[in-house]
Amino acid sequence: MNMTHVVVIGGGQAGASVVARLRSRGHSGPITLIGAEPHLPYQRPPLSKGYLLGEMEADRLMLRTADFYAENGIDLRLGQPVTAIDPGARTLSLGSETIGYDALVLATGSIARRLPAAIGGDLAGVYTVRTLADIDTARPEFQPGRRLVIVGGGYIGLEAAAVAAKLGLEVTVLEMAPRILQRVAAPETSTFFRELHLKNGVTVLEGTGLDRLLGEGGRVTAARLANGREVPADFVIAGVGILPDTRLAEAAGLTIDNGIATDAFCQTSDPHIWTAGDCASFPHAGGRLRLESVGNAIDMGECVADNILGAAQPYEPKAWFWSDQYDTKLQIAGLNSGYDRIVTRGPEGEAISHWYYAGDRLIAVDAMNDSRAYMVGKRLIEAGKSPDPAVVANPATDLKALLKA
Ligand code: FAD
Repeated sequence: MNMTHVVVIGGGQAGASVVARLRSRGHSGPITLIGAEPHLPYQRPPLSKGYLLGEMEADRLMLRTADFYAENGIDLRLGQPVTAIDPGARTLSLGSETIGYDALVLATGSIARRLPAAIGGDLAGVYTVRTLADIDTARPEFQPGRRLVIVGGGYIGLEAAAVAAKLGLEVTVLEMAPRILQRVAAPETSTFFRELHLKNGVTVLEGTGLDRLLGEGGRVTAARLANGREVPADFVIAGVGILPDTRLAEAAGLTIDNGIATDAFCQTSDPHIWTAGDCASFPHAGGRLRLESVGNAIDMGECVADNILGAAQPYEPKAWFWSDQYDTKLQIAGLNSGYDRIVTRGPEGEAISHWYYAGDRLIAVDAMNDSRAYMVGKRLIEAGKSPDPAVVANPATDLKALLKA
């Protein structure tokens, strides 16, 4: 029997993945899962989609029921943040309690960046979209006819814009970069989503910085743009990215490098401490990579659990992501950094896909309303296969046949 006491800090997607995997792989020792939020571990993607729209109940967000943790002997400690770790003593502080561990997993996720108070970020009516509590606080503002300004044209800002437009709000998206989704997608994908939002009545202002938010009586009333124009706002969403939550790790003296740095086996600079999910950066392609996705949180969490149990398995991310806006489903396979060519397949009806190549190598696919292109692209990338771009672009090509080539 392995009686190692595993303590996981962070009751989110990665933390839940670690504890479930430990038990499914036969770990019989004690497991403690500590979460700062008062909820059972839950999935965040619906927060900017179905849950914000009011189409999903909160209990459907939960990854597993309370019974699962009880039946599997997982001690859940919710609603209280760990305040410090002492790696030398192998203990952590939870309120006035000191808890010992044999193996510790940091799955602390990330923190939504806020607009600075100096530019009005602390006015009432300015929200972030990260936690269930964020959405429960902001949702009453989503009433037809109200004016919403969204700062940041990334996936979260655009998903919130789609929900708000569907609910009949007057929505303006401000993007400082020359185009929405610039950090994460090719111009072709940005164009697709710009057109989609314009068609749904959203105002999309690209290459437009925010000068500051204006307020009256402590509540936001407008956004003043860098060009001097003022856009009236009943409320504002800041979708300006996230920061990996490295606070505990830093204070404990662990190595930080765009997240809590791991070796190939998800182990931090302390041999008894592991990390997974949004907060972790791991070696990849000669550099370091940090991913902000459900797939990474699940897979890295499982890899950590396996390695705590002695698997010595290096972590190889199989990157995938999705976004839902209006009736469009975007599915992304692979990592597009370093691409030098885009090959487009379609449109065929509502379906279109953009295939990213680096030289002759297929590295990523953005598939809009085309789950076949996504599925085939993902399997090709994972198998290291790169079909001829002209064959991919040819509408007569049977995509599935590419897998057999
Ligand atoms: P989290 O899920 O953030 O969990 C970390 C937990 O650790 C938090 O509950 C936090 O409170 C807790 N914690 C932190 N510090 C402490 C402490 N000191 N003590 C105790 N607990 C602590 N990804 C996709 O792939 N597809 C999508 O469509 C998608 N949509 C998204 C939409 C929204 C609105 C958001 C916010 C994210 C979305 N993501 C999406 C990203 C995805 O949800 C995250 O990558 C994933 O949740 C990361 O899991 P994690 O466990 O690393 O972090």
